[in-house]
Formats: sequence, structure tokens, C-alpha cells
Amino acid sequence: VHVDASDTVPSPMYFVLRDAAAQSRVEAGWLAFATACLVTMLATAVIALFFGLRLRDPAFGWYAAYVTTYALIQATQSGYIVRPLGWDAMAATLPAWGRAVTTLSIVSAVLFLDRFAGLGQRLPRLRRVLHGYCALMLVLVTLGYVPGLQVAMRALINPLLILGAPLVLGTAIAAVLRRSRYAAIFLLGWLPLLGVTVLGSLQLYGIAPDWTWSDDAALAVGAFEAIVLLLGLGERAASVRRQRDQARVLAGVDPLTGLPNRRAWRDALEACLREPDAAGLSVLYLDLDHFKRVNDRLGHAGGDRVLQLFADVLRHALRADDVIGRYGGEEFVVGLVGGDAQAVAERIRTGLHARSREADMPLTVSIGVTAWRTGEGIDELLRRADAALYAAKHGGRDRVVAG
Ligand code: GH3
Ligand code: MG
Ligand code: MG
Repeated sequence: VHVDASDTVPSPMYFVLRDAAAQSRVEAGWLAFATACLVTMLATAVIALFFGLRLRDPAFGWYAAYVTTYALIQATQSGYIVRPLGWDAMAATLPAWGRAVTTLSIVSAVLFLDRFAGLGQRLPRLRRVLHGYCALMLVLVTLGYVPGLQVAMRALINPLLILGAPLVLGTAIAAVLRRSRYAAIFLLGWLPLLGVTVLGSLQLYGIAPDWTWSDDAALAVGAFEAIVLLLGLGERAASVRRQRDQARVLAGVDPLTGLPNRRAWRDALEACLREPDAAGLSVLYLDLDHFKRVNDRLGHAGGDRVLQLFADVLRHALRADDVIGRYGGEEFVVGLVGGDAQAVAERIRTGLHARSREADMPLTVSIGVTAWRTGEGIDELLRRADAALYAAKHGGRDRVVAG
């Protein structure tokens, strides 16, 4: 056996004598294992690319770049590209592209962590340092291809590559301390890989020489990380969706009373008008009487409490499928499907009297009631209800008028 180790990093070698049958069993086992690991990485990268394009989320793209470059590095280091792939020409040109791929791998890991853990909000200053690091690495690697600069660039890149791991580790830990759940998922996926990489590098210095399966471990932790981080990306996409749904709900709720606001109420009533049982639909338009005086006597905060109290009266007087809304200021609206709308309105009016004690002053409400006419739009319906309300105000307030 002749080993030409010139121009390569010295690394431990092992020799085992086996008969041909045992050797082919070992090789077949290794082949199945290495293929499974590499295919896992490439498959997760393809899946992530697809979802990244659909969701327009760069975190998926950086994930795909990171996992693919790591798989390429492992396929090279484990000898997979030579056997079984037979890409000897590619292996022969390794010195020309190996450093560039390693750099790309670290840069995409950094940019993935940036997006995944939301460093922009949590650690903006550290994020600028990381971006500077990435830019510097890419410039140095590119300059490394300029004739005459190779040696100098290599001398600069190698220590910077080693600096990458503590930089990523420190950032991820800082993000975990800032309560980034995703930074914790990143660490869960990445720490085994970091551990194996560090131990493998230490072997070059004669540490842990008996650990013969470090290359296999590097493949396995790569596949493990690819799966963990892809699941993390899925969880993050689901959480973004939950937040969006919540925001959408909140956008339709009046924060003071918890009732639907004007827009949400109109949407709900439009939906009711399209229902087959819309024929029996009525609308109440309610306006608290002399509310300016309520504010004058109780203050604005006291006025707010009266509005909440009135919302409570409405909820008690109505059924779950009635559509209540705060139309604006001290004006409320209700859509009722079926039932005696005028009787319901009376119940609301007297219900408010009953709770006047809580405000320490008489509270009254004027209500306009109107029934929907087939084919009519929501604006016409409301205009009639508003006219009835106007009549109730002019008739002396604290009353229900049908229109
Ligand atoms: P009317 O019997 O004719 O309806 O008299 P009014 O004083 O109730 O009617 P007007 O529409 O002139 O005044 C409504 C008042 O409601 C004015 C405004 O300051 C008050 N208001 C509107 N929105 C709020 C709110 O969110 N909180 C409080 N505290 N007051 C509000
Ligand atoms: Mg008003
Ligand atoms: Mg009023």
C-alpha cells in the first residue's frame, strides 16, 4: 500500500484484514447507510426548496443550500463520490472547489439561523456582525481564485472558517436567551453535528485515535439535523399562519366591548342576507341617549365602562346566532334572524334601566327597528333603521320605534 499524503491534511488511517465475503458485507452495509443519509439530506433540501418558493420564505432556501452543501462535503469526505458514484474527475479537482463549498455551507447556515431564529428583531447588532462575516468570507473565497492571491487567501480563510462555528453557536445561544424557540430547535439539530465535526478535527491532532466511525457519524448527524430543522421550519410556518389568523380575528373586534366592529358586523350581516332563512331578518339600530352627559358626569373612563355595560346588556338579551356589533361611538347594531324584533328591543331597553344603578345615573337607549325586505341591500336596510332611531330620539328618547 502506498499512500501519497503530500498536499493533504494528515488524518488517521485504519487497516483491517477481512475475507472477500466479509468485506462485501461491510461495504454493502456502509453503502446502504451512506446512501440513506445522503438521500435524506437531498430529499429534505428539495422539499424545503419547494415550500420556500410557495411560501416566499428565504429561510427554506438557506436551509436547502446549507443541507445540500453539507451533503456534498460529506459525499466527498466519505469517498462516496469516487465509490460508488465514480466521479473521480470531481474528486480530483477537490482543492479547487472544496473551500468554496465549505464557505458556502457556513454562510448559508448563518443566513438560515438569521431568518429561522428571527435575529433581525432579537439581536440586530450581532446580526450585522454575522452578515459582515458572511460577506468577508465570500469575498475572500472569490479572491482565492485570482492567480497570485491563492496562498494569502487560504491563510486568511482557514482561521475564519474555524471562527464560524463559535460565532454560530454564540448567536444561537444568545437567541435562545432572548426566547427564540427556533434557535433552540436549531441547536437541537446542529449540536450533534458540531460535536462530531469538532471531534473529527481533533483527530487530526491525534486526539481520540480509536474512534474509527467519525466519518459515519458525520453522515448520520447531517441527516438528523436535516430532519430536525425541516420539522422546525414546518412548525414555524404553522405558527406564522396561526398568528395571521389571530390578527385577522382581532382586526374585526372592537377592543373596548369585545363586540364585532363595523366592518366585521357588516360582513356577518351580508353573510346572513345570503342565507336561505334571511326572509325573517330584522335589524335594530341602537343609540345611547345623551351620552355626552354620561361622559360629562362620569368622565371618559366612566363613559367607557357604560359602553361595556351596555354591550353586556345586549349579550344577555340576545341569542348566540344574533349578530351584534358596535357600529361606532355609542351606536350599536343587531341583526336578528326570526323572532319578535320589537319585543327583543324592549327587552334591551328595560334591561339597561335595570342596570343603571351600576353607573349611578339613569341610562336609557333609543332603538330603531326594521324588517329586511327581500332583495334589499345592507345600506338601504340600515338607512330605514336609522330613520326609525331618529324618530325614537324625536319622540322623546328611551323608546323603540319600528320603521
Ligand atoms: P343623543 O341622545 O342625541 O344620542 O345624544 P348623545 O350625547 O348620545 O349623542 P352624540 O352623538 O352627540 O354624542 C355621542 C357622544 O359619545 C360623543 C362622544 O364623545 C361619545 N363617545 C363616542 N365614542 C365614545 C367612546 O368610545 N367612549 C366614550 N367614553 N365616549 C364616546
Ligand atoms: Mg350617536
Ligand atoms: Mg347618543
